[in-house]
Amino acid sequence: MSSTDNTQPAPLMIVGEVASSGLARGPAMLCDCARTQTAVPLRQVSAAEVQAEVERFDAAVLAAEGKLREVQESVRRTLGKDEAEIFEAQVLLLRDVQLRDAVRALCLEKRMNVEAAVEEAIKQLMDLFGRLEDPYFRERATDLYDVGRRLLDHLAESGLPDVPVVHEGCVIVTSEILASVVARLEGQGVRGLIVEKGGLTAHATILARSLGIPTLVQVPEATAKIRAGDLVIVDALAGRAFINPQADILRKYDQVDANLKAHQGVLKGLIGLPTVTHDGVEIKLCANIGQTADALAAANVKADGVGLYRTEFVFLVQDHFPSEDEQYQFYRATAEHLQPAETVIRVLDVGSDKPLSYFPLPREANPAMGFRGIRLLLAHPTLLHTQLRAILRLSASHPVAILLPMIDGIDELRAAKAAIEHAKEELAAAGQSFAPLIPVGAMIETPSAAILIEHLADEVDFFSVGSNDLVQFLLAADRIRGEMKSTYDPLHPAVIQVLAKLATVARRKGTPISLCGEIASDPTYTNLLIGLGFRSFSVSPGRLLDIKHAIRSTDLQQAEKLAEQVLSVHSTRDIRAQVQDDWNRRRPVASPEFNGPTGPVGTSLAVRHNVARQRFEAQAGESAPAFLSYRGEGERVILKHTFVPDALRGQGIAADLVRVALEEARQRHWKIVPRCSYVAGFIERHPEFCDLVDRQEGNLD
Ligand code: PEP
Ligand code: MG
Repeated sequence: MSSTDNTQPAPLMIVGEVASSGLARGPAMLCDCARTQTAVPLRQVSAAEVQAEVERFDAAVLAAEGKLREVQESVRRTLGKDEAEIFEAQVLLLRDVQLRDAVRALCLEKRMNVEAAVEEAIKQLMDLFGRLEDPYFRERATDLYDVGRRLLDHLAESGLPDVPVVHEGCVIVTSEILASVVARLEGQGVRGLIVEKGGLTAHATILARSLGIPTLVQVPEATAKIRAGDLVIVDALAGRAFINPQADILRKYDQVDANLKAHQGVLKGLIGLPTVTHDGVEIKLCANIGQTADALAAANVKADGVGLYRTEFVFLVQDHFPSEDEQYQFYRATAEHLQPAETVIRVLDVGSDKPLSYFPLPREANPAMGFRGIRLLLAHPTLLHTQLRAILRLSASHPVAILLPMIDGIDELRAAKAAIEHAKEELAAAGQSFAPLIPVGAMIETPSAAILIEHLADEVDFFSVGSNDLVQFLLAADRIRGEMKSTYDPLHPAVIQVLAKLATVARRKGTPISLCGEIASDPTYTNLLIGLGFRSFSVSPGRLLDIKHAIRSTDLQQAEKLAEQVLSVHSTRDIRAQVQDDWNRRRPVASPEFNGPTGPVGTSLAVRHNVARQRFEAQAGESAPAFLSYRGEGERVILKHTFVPDALRGQGIAADLVRVALEEARQRHWKIVPRCSYVAGFIERHPEFCDLVDRQEGNLD
């Protein structure tokens, strides 16, 4: 991991899931962005530097205490005296000699830089507290975590000039990443992100997408395989990264980059054109935004408005609760960019994977199903009230609407609406103006709300479908954990049926409905969603033109036919095959061909698909290539023969060839016949590929 390691870096390819598409190139920076607000740089310090590191720690403690007192005051104002009290315990922990001793010892004995030492010391103390019998001390583990985060924030601000927190132009490589960390990457010149864990609809990922940072998630062992300073190409188009690539790979990617830019030129040509299907059906296309910069991006491509303003991102980058006036200014700056189009402002949806450092929430085993969204706001009426006042005041001059997150049924909805009425009454009594008929909408993102949509429709002005959460709750599959990827599938037939019902009922009731979950931002789904009845989407600003392109290349009859077919099958795999096929047929012609090299994890030899010769090949220098040959036979593809020349034996190349071929077979929906016994044996050892085999055939030699 150290950048001082002198061994020659080996070229390598690793694969992952595309979380935010694009192409990036830059030196790797290894960070731990998992548990802290700030990316923690890891560095070895010399003996002479140790004292300076300890002094930085002392200064950070002082600064953190000052900040804590300010936060305490803002929490007292916003949430009340009892919640503010929790910060007393944190002040005591900050001053704890045990913590200082532990940090000092780590700097001295392990030659760690102070940021890494603080991280480690906090981890050790948390483990210690966590093991204690007394529940009081176990609770303090959470406070310790917060204290650590605060210290790291201050250390980041006082970072040595030659060790910036984030190197301009770097590719960040980390095991996990928090939304609050990504929120702080804006404007820091980060070119790409490679994350070992992470899910496609986690908020950290959503933010990376909206910042336009090419991102791969689910890249196993990335932090072990990539070293600080390695040159990395992030191919967040095909889902792979090259580490210290050879010149020929770099050249290929220059070409891919040029193709991509040309494609972006085509998309730019769509700005200002109407968002209609090929046969003239109008679709409303709005943007999901988090920060004011997103609003500007949306306005630049002429979005039809903001369909989802995630205000929690405004709160996430602060270190205190923004006051009513501060919120008013933020929301106003955003709405200004889009007007006269409407901005739908969602009230705070914190909790789960969007914790606020200054909001003391209890630790929960299942935070996604815990204290979050509207239930949290209703429990903290001052917080809700302040936000509602800010939004209502803005409604006097700008077209805004209020959106309520995580509504689970009629009672919560009515309670939230009562809070809105109360805020209106207060403003009216003070002679402050607002739009009395400001539209109020509910997110449909819990199964209970989906079931009750018919009744909810009688009490709201509009709906917004949050498919990210809806899928997670319908399928009982965590949206954040990428490991749940095979279970968390928006093309599950249960999800499709629910979506169809939502669109149908909303239309029957005359209640506008929009879809703002991440599936709306993926053109693969556009045709299906239109076919299911959706006529309004809200998508990541960076995807607006891609979705517009997909809409303009769709026609309603085809879309409805696809939806009908999909609704008639009951297997996720079959649905995916249909939707993927449909997309493959409609993919924009101008979209770049990514014929970059392919290759399996861990090999230093790239595997290429030589379509002309019908074989997958790997070659070292000028030597004869290793290959796996195939031939098409009707619907099936016969995998014929595997050959590895003597010079390449013993490196696992045959297995690499077969794996790449099978992965591509899956993408292309090939039914394969493994005539070659090596391939057949490989499939026996890797049953995840069994489904590709055409079982009609007695297929072994
Ligand atoms: C959703 O759940 O789909 C949604 C749009 O809300 P969020 O992603 O912010 O939870
Ligand atoms: Mg949600």
